[in-house]
Amino acid sequence: MLLTQCPKGTRDVLPQDSYRWQYLESKMRAAAAAAGYREIRTPVFEHTELFLRGVGDTTDIVQKEMYTFKDKGDRSITLKPEGTAGAARAFLEHNLYADALPCKMYYLDAPVFRYEAPQAGRLREHHQFGLECFGAKEATVDAELILLAYRLLSGLGVSNLSVNINSIGCPRCRPVYHAALKGFLAGKVDSLCADCKSRYERNPLRVLDCKVPSCQEQVADAPSMLDYLCDECRAHFSQLQDCLNLSGIPYRVDSRIVRGLDYYTKTVFELITATKDGNLTVCGGGRYDNLIEQLGGDPMPGVGFGMGLERVLMLLEQEGIALPEPPLYDVFVTYMGSHQSEAFALVEGLRAAGLRADMDHCGRSLKAQFKYANKTGAAVTATIGDEEAANGAVRLKNMQTREETTVPVADAAAEARRLIG
Ligand code: ATP
Ligand code: MG
Repeated sequence: MLLTQCPKGTRDVLPQDSYRWQYLESKMRAAAAAAGYREIRTPVFEHTELFLRGVGDTTDIVQKEMYTFKDKGDRSITLKPEGTAGAARAFLEHNLYADALPCKMYYLDAPVFRYEAPQAGRLREHHQFGLECFGAKEATVDAELILLAYRLLSGLGVSNLSVNINSIGCPRCRPVYHAALKGFLAGKVDSLCADCKSRYERNPLRVLDCKVPSCQEQVADAPSMLDYLCDECRAHFSQLQDCLNLSGIPYRVDSRIVRGLDYYTKTVFELITATKDGNLTVCGGGRYDNLIEQLGGDPMPGVGFGMGLERVLMLLEQEGIALPEPPLYDVFVTYMGSHQSEAFALVEGLRAAGLRADMDHCGRSLKAQFKYANKTGAAVTATIGDEEAANGAVRLKNMQTREETTVPVADAAAEARRLIG
């Protein structure tokens, strides 16, 4: 283990790259706000039991991927492996169900921990933008969420987006389908992977979702949940499609999508893009009408999605989409030998006037200060030499046009703004 190496599957966001995250964040906040979603922040860790109940103990997440440990008080603690359970816990703990519904919330940059084999787009700590809507049973919300994710991603410039939707029914119709699927798989169990052998017993639906090619072959002709939906689920799914049709976005019904979490009911969806390394799921979500009840609350519908920020950034990079990088400085103050204090006062004044400003803090020569100012991309330099200092003045220079003016220190901010244009 190298002390100067971050743990496997984690990543730093460096100061020179953080604007990319901030740009995404601002777009995500705006998208959420446009539809009435407000931010929720929940702890990075929760009681393990929350995820056992909330995520489901037949899922890959719970079975293989959780970061779980005992704290010093002998409590079992788990680092959040997804965002919904924590949001649902907070919804119940703070009686948010007593307010006018629906309760719409989003989380941004929420760290998510999964013990997975690291590879492109798969980390052990990643960050999610997620939306949750509690208390709304209508398919219009399912459609709203799918559209919000689609428009956000396409607005960022992600191309080749495909929206895949499915319905996995509800506790009334799904058991019938379970039985049919189990019947179909009964003769094929021996050819399934080890995981799917246990999925066959515990949650046969998840065999449909297995990424192992031989399992995918086995389920190619499996019966479809869509043929087993009860009237209510069928009507809900059809309403969702009506809304999506009206919106004009392209989408596909794919009865193979079941999603990795046990809490889903009715709608499930994924936004997928084709990359050079194959298909990449950027966003996944669905309806979870039983989650709140499963966590001890009164029955309460819910629907949401999670979107991985690292995956979005990876796609933007692969597609060569440049994100706007804000300037580090508007004004860089340079000074001669003894005029450090005047320079400092000027920097302070410029900052107070709302400009991004700085000066040399490393003892550079005037020439080196200019070189450094250039490197930072500052639009304007403000120089205090002996003559300027004697007159309470400062010499401003637009680094691009080379236009120069000398003005009283008191006018420096206004003049710098004029020069920047
Ligand atoms: P996958 O099938 O790729 O494992 P998942 O079904 O486990 O995805 P979700 O639980 O739906 O993913 O998480 C929502 C989103 O979070 C994903 O669509 C993806 O963008 C992102 N995500 C999930 N796991 C990781 C990971 N290990 N590293 C980076 N991003 C991830
Ligand atoms: Mg996964």
